[in-house]
Amino acid sequence: MHSIIYRITGLMFLIVTTTVLVLISLANLQMEDLFQQYLMAQSANNTDFTPLGTMGQSEEAFLSSVHQSLLWVGLVIVIIGLLVSFLVARSITVPLRKLSSAAEKISKGDFAQKVEVKTNDEIGQLSNIFNNMASSLASNNLLRQHLFANITHELRTPLAIIQGNLEGMIDGVVVRDKEQLISIHEEAVRLNHLIRDLRDLSLAEVNRLELEKEAIDINHLISKNLLLLKPLTEEKQLVVECFMEENLPPVLADADRMSQVFYNILLNGVKYSEQNGFLKVTTNLQKEGESSFVKISFCDSGAGIAKEDLPYIFEHFYRGDKSRDRKSGGSGIGLSIVKQLVEIHGGKVGVKANEAKGTTFIITLPVT
Ligand code: ADP
Repeated sequence: MHSIIYRITGLMFLIVTTTVLVLISLANLQMEDLFQQYLMAQSANNTDFTPLGTMGQSEEAFLSSVHQSLLWVGLVIVIIGLLVSFLVARSITVPLRKLSSAAEKISKGDFAQKVEVKTNDEIGQLSNIFNNMASSLASNNLLRQHLFANITHELRTPLAIIQGNLEGMIDGVVVRDKEQLISIHEEAVRLNHLIRDLRDLSLAEVNRLELEKEAIDINHLISKNLLLLKPLTEEKQLVVECFMEENLPPVLADADRMSQVFYNILLNGVKYSEQNGFLKVTTNLQKEGESSFVKISFCDSGAGIAKEDLPYIFEHFYRGDKSRDRKSGGSGIGLSIVKQLVEIHGGKVGVKANEAKGTTFIITLPVT
């Protein structure tokens, strides 16, 4: 008797049977009463010698046939009640059983589960919620698999280079000179950065990245990063223009993290620009009702971003260049870090780009 179907059927059956029994007893009592009154009235005008209120054979036969009919009607109602109770209980338990079997399959790792939604009631709503949950679990699982594949790919490449070079040196196949050591060191640094970025990203995603917030001057921080990138901008002979609003109010932020944001975006601007292009940085204060924001735009004259790539560029390891030639770009997590860091500071980041016509990244940070 553990199944809900038996409990609902049993309960409804009990209610129907009790109701029918009560109705039959009441009908019986009332009918006998009325019948007695009728007999009394008949006897008062009687010409025979039948005593007052006594039943003849035909009256008793009538009364017992009425009793029998009442019992039959009661029995039929009870049977119909049992059938209806079972059907009602079944209409509740069948979708619940389907839901529980689908949930069991999900718990075993089979995420491709969907249950049919036939009604608009609570069970229909539960089925809808279940389907949404199943599809987001499936897509999260897919993302996780891609993430692992990407992480292993990105870690394996520099490690293989370091290992290959070291083995070559041990065997005497590769010369042990400064140039080789520098290239091994570069790979180790790249690996270290990647691991640091991944760590930051995972902490930022669960809001556990510790921020040392202070009042920072956005214009000053951007200028510092432009200075850091000067050797690269000069190498590409890029024209760097800055239109920074004076006396911007300070923004409460972690200076190192914000610097990482500006560096990643500016570095991309340099990396994806052709020789003799330009980089333009604009800052200004914007007001929206009671709130104020510092708006920063980074505009470059680079290759731009294809329409089909635009929705994905902030995703982990997404790179416009599918060939994954590491020389043509980084590991594809620079912009994911930018987005996470800007968002944990309460800001927003967006992009406007046209293929072959350059790219503009816009960051807005709240002024508190
Ligand atoms: P990556 O390490 O590949 O640069 P990012 O996360 O920084 O990774 O950028 C993701 C992708 O977005 C890049 O692979 C590139 O296709 C595109 N992208 C980012 N910034 C620019 C830009 N300024 N100009 C053109 N494409 C860009």
